[in-house]
Parts: sequence; structure tokens; C-alpha cells
Amino acid sequence: MPVKLERKHAFPLALAPILLALVFVLFKLYTASKVTNPETGRVARVALSPEQEQRLGLEAYAQVKRDEAGKIIQSGPDVDLVKRVTTRLARAAAEKAVVQYNWEVSVIQSHEKNAFCLPGGKIVVYTGIIPIAKNEAGLATVLGHEMAHATSRHSAERLFRSQIVQTILGGVQGSMMDMDPAQRQTIMGALGAGAKYGATLPFSRKQESEADHIGLLYMARAGYDPREAVAFWQRMDEQLGKGSPPAFLSDHPSHNTRIGQLQTWMPEAQKEYNQHHNRAPAA
Ligand SMILES: [Zn+2]
Repeated sequence: MPVKLERKHAFPLALAPILLALVFVLFKLYTASKVTNPETGRVARVALSPEQEQRLGLEAYAQVKRDEAGKIIQSGPDVDLVKRVTTRLARAAAEKAVVQYNWEVSVIQSHEKNAFCLPGGKIVVYTGIIPIAKNEAGLATVLGHEMAHATSRHSAERLFRSQIVQTILGGVQGSMMDMDPAQRQTIMGALGAGAKYGATLPFSRKQESEADHIGLLYMARAGYDPREAVAFWQRMDEQLGKGSPPAFLSDHPSHNTRIGQLQTWMPEAQKEYNQHHNRAPAA
């Protein structure tokens, strides 16, 4: 019965890649840990421990500082503004945080309209985004959103869904400095190191929406009028319409749905604002 024999061999061989894939998926599920977002209650699976993630964030931050050396400014009104906003937001984020970050911020003198926050709370702000933000609450909208990606551990979550997790884990064992430039670029992009490094793994819509939600709560808790977030995204929509979108928008597309969602979270944000900044009604 030669036919049957052949089938007997062919069957498991054809299945082998599927079985391997299944083992890989099961392995990932088994090794992943679940985290509950302290602000939204959403449960996510993450590929890295907070320590691994923070170490990668630190390395990526060091890389950005090397790349931008000479353009990092230490003082002046832009630095004062950025530090004031990030300090207030960091205090707001710490209130419910599970993992406490050692927040740091670098301000880069550049026309680039960009800002991002690496895992572990390392923030990079390009001065070009300041006029776009228009006012302090606008800047708090941008930075609150970026900081929320970091505190929500969105990089570790999207890495969990990605095949490049193996490269990343290799990076955790070694150092990013030992990698070839292409590999380093991939990891930098995956960690959210801004448009320059490309969006290797763009944040999902769910993550974008969660960052909007939490960013709104952070800014309100920090004492900024949450309604300014809506005004900010409306300005971004106008920028998109003009065909000159800032780099910041390349991985953060502006949509009407975003503004609609912000409106639904507004009562919650107003409550945060009132709780933390009880003010007598205007006479
Ligand atoms: Zn985002």
C-alpha cells in the first residue's frame, strides 16, 4: 500500500511549520505577562519585563542624545516651558502609576515638529513642535499623550504581537551598541523614537485612543484645561488639510473620531480637574 505510506510521511511534514508556529505562539503566550492599565483598567499582554523595557528605553535615549549632540539645549524659555509641563504631567502620572519612572527630558533645537517618550519615561521634545502646540495646554496635550504611551507600556505590548520580539530580546541580552545599524534602527523605531527612526510598529488604534484618554486625564490632573486637547487636535486637522503635516502626525494621524472620543471623556477629565484644582467660581 504505497499510497498510504506516502501519505503517512507527507502529512506530518506539511503540518510541521504550523506546529512550529503554534509552539511559538504558545511559548509567547506562556512567557508573556499580563498588565492592567491603572488608568483605564484595560488588560494587555506585554513581551518585556519593566526592567527590560526600561533598559532598552535608556539605551535608545542615549542613542538619540548621541545623534542629536550639539542640538540639545540646556536653558532658555523653551527648556523652562518643556520642563514645567513635563514635571506637572509626571506628578499627575505618578498618582496611579504601578511602575514609577525616573522621568527625564531633552529639548532639541530643531525645526522638526516632533516629540516622543521612550519606554521608562525618557522624553525628547524638538522645539519645532512648540509653536504648533501654541500654548502650554497644547504642549501638555502632546506630551500627556506621549507619556501615556510610555506609562501604558504600549511598546512592550506591540512587541508582544510582533515577530521582531526575538531581535529585541537578543538586544536585551547584549547591548544596542553591538548591533548593526539596521537592527538598531528597527529597535529604535519599535520603541517609538520618533519619525526619524521610522514607525517600525505603529501604535494600534486602540493604543492611540488609550493614550488620548490617559493624556487627557494627566493634563486635567496637572491643572490644564482638558478642553484645550480638543482645540489642539482641531489645529492638527487644519495642518493636515494644508498638506504640511508635522512629523508628530506621521505616526499620530488626526481624525474626527479622535475629537469625538475626547468629548466623551471630557466629563471624567473635568472631574479630575475639579478634584485637583478646586477653584471658586468666577465672580
Ligand atoms: Zn500616539
